[in-house]
Amino acid sequence: MRARHKPWADDYLKKHTEYVVLEPESLKGNWQSRFSQHQPIYLEIGAGKGQFITGMADQFPSINFVAIELVKSIIVSALDKVVESKPDNVQLINTDAKDLRSFFGEGEVDRIYLNFSDPWPKNKHEKRRLTYHTFLEQYKEVLKEGGDVILKTDNRHLFEYSLTSFSQFGMVLDEVTLDLHELEDPTNVMTEYEEKFSSRGQPIYRVQARFQ
Ligand code: SAM
Repeated sequence: MRARHKPWADDYLKKHTEYVVLEPESLKGNWQSRFSQHQPIYLEIGAGKGQFITGMADQFPSINFVAIELVKSIIVSALDKVVESKPDNVQLINTDAKDLRSFFGEGEVDRIYLNFSDPWPKNKHEKRRLTYHTFLEQYKEVLKEGGDVILKTDNRHLFEYSLTSFSQFGMVLDEVTLDLHELEDPTNVMTEYEEKFSSRGQPIYRVQARFQ
């Protein structure tokens, strides 16, 4: 996802500390304190412009959502949506998910969403894929026992790679679909990328994989 440099982004994030966690390390093991209600925590990694997290927060008020996005000039669009809809169950972090273990305690998260993650098609970039085993090791630690990872993508290569990576890690594949929209699931919240690719007629792949 490309975004124009936004010199005001830093100040904007700092202005909204009710929604933006500037020092996520300080909350490790204590994320519930950021929410008005003590309820399960679902994490989205690579949240982009925030359509998914805000749609999910609206549809599932009994879940607390945390969205991580690496790029400042992109996460400000997610913050725009949050500032407008004012949910009490969304928190944003502008950081790299490679350090997940330093932000969340063991078993603190109930579910992880990976939506249209960057595919990094070259073999030499395999380590950057969010389903590479080093990421899975972190997910396993921060997820509660039996917690799961749900991946949606239009990218066949990343999908096949992720299925293999999950399986090699010993995860159970609870649901696999090669055409999510064919299921017409009314609870499916579309991401920005999902709308873009499905409008071009591309199938959306989805897998729900659980650590055991
Ligand atoms: N999930 C959104 C969607 O479906 O519309 C955005 C998809 S976009 C292709 C992938 C996003 O993941 C980008 O905004 C990128 O900056 C973010 N990202 C990639 N690697 C990341 C990482 N290690 N930590 C946090 N965010 C990351």
